[in-house]
Amino acid sequence: MTRSRSEELFAQAQALLPGGVSSPVRAFRAVGGTPVFVERGSGAFIRDVDGRSYIDYVLSWGPLALGHAHPRVVAAVCEAAERGLSFGAPTELENRLAERIRAAMPSIELVRFVTSGTEACMSALRLARAATGRTKVVKFAGGYHGHADAMLAQAGSGVATFGLPDSPGVTPGATADTIVVEYNDLPALKALFAERGDEIACVIVEPCAGNMGLVLPEDGFLHGIQSLCRAHGALFVLDEVMTGFRVAPGGAQGLWGLDPDITCLGKVIGGGLPVGAYGGKRRFLELVAPAGPVYQAGTLAGNPLAMAAGLATIEGLLAPGVFPAMVETAQAIVAALEAAADEAGVPLQAAACGTMFGFFFLSPEALARAGWDEAGRGPDGRGRPPGRRPVRDFATARRLVDTARYARFFHAMLEEGVYLPPSAFESCFVSAAHGPREVEATRRAARRAMARVAG
Ligand SMILES: *Cc1c(COP(=O)(O)O)cnc(C)c1O
Repeated sequence: MTRSRSEELFAQAQALLPGGVSSPVRAFRAVGGTPVFVERGSGAFIRDVDGRSYIDYVLSWGPLALGHAHPRVVAAVCEAAERGLSFGAPTELENRLAERIRAAMPSIELVRFVTSGTEACMSALRLARAATGRTKVVKFAGGYHGHADAMLAQAGSGVATFGLPDSPGVTPGATADTIVVEYNDLPALKALFAERGDEIACVIVEPCAGNMGLVLPEDGFLHGIQSLCRAHGALFVLDEVMTGFRVAPGGAQGLWGLDPDITCLGKVIGGGLPVGAYGGKRRFLELVAPAGPVYQAGTLAGNPLAMAAGLATIEGLLAPGVFPAMVETAQAIVAALEAAADEAGVPLQAAACGTMFGFFFLSPEALARAGWDEAGRGPDGRGRPPGRRPVRDFATARRLVDTARYARFFHAMLEEGVYLPPSAFESCFVSAAHGPREVEATRRAARRAMARVAG
């Protein structure tokens, strides 16, 4: 059998890059097979080096809200490039993007640009510790806040546990001040604050958890975190790197009326170029150097090309009618996946939140073991209100999700010309370029792929 061009390139890449990739999920380890090497992208589509086209629901993991190579974004980047790639000196573009962000998220009074979401979260934690003079930070299991040492801890179980490092090279010392609680477990957080509230600098949370698949916050969870933080003098840090300009134009804080002390941003605000940002209340951000003593810097921070791409993307997204149409597209795709699963008799938990969506294949055996019956009644014997889906945190995601079925579905969809994330625990995204035609093609693909993975 002749090798595909992707197979050839991946073989080369494995001799050059660890695992053949620049970031782990791209290697397809969770679904098997050879990663698709991309040749180009346009609108809702990517084309691989073997000439096959796919409807893309990864969109560079979220940033490409207007789709691939949107003419206005490309023009803005080219224009900026002609004037110089980087200066390490202030430019007007930073003011303009900062103004856009502030207008969309009123909790943000001052904003600092960095070059990745990882850096945004890492710096936000430093700031929270400096502002409170406390050491502990609380995160939720399955929440991803970039790969800074302190955040590479998940632990598990419903009770709060001290974080143990998830990766070799991260010392126990680096995560000793990280406390991990299950997502959606407000009682556990309350108990933790009651016991050691005066040591906690901040709670950092993904408003919808998007890095363990898509898990929505249950009623009262996010407001509960905010109230507990306020009551105990801890900072409420909302990680909107994924949800900002995704779940609503004003992010999750706009959608659900939250008032975080610090917000982390990334992905869409860079429109596909490397950008992150953290912002929030003036009294905290004024602690950041040179306004204050908390050191944080970046050679390429506020890079003009990245600022231009972010501005053009946000402007396109906020044009009349664009965002609502994207939300409808995401809902239509979830409906199509649910219908296809029902038809094939495959248990599926799917959800959309704004312009992102996600779905879990549930293992019938694991559901039964966990006390769910076939009518969808939970272990407590009650029905399944929308807020109480079987997967509600990292523990249930790991216990109930059929990752083998996802892998088969992923490859079946790939063959049908649809590119999904190569892992059962990632979120999917739509762009303004995904319209009724792409929805219809996805619906047909999903019906055929579901039939293939049933049984
Ligand atoms: C992607 C992501 C990050 C990390 O951003 P990078 O730019 O990949 O460093 C942090 N937090 C959340 C919620 C993310 O989705």
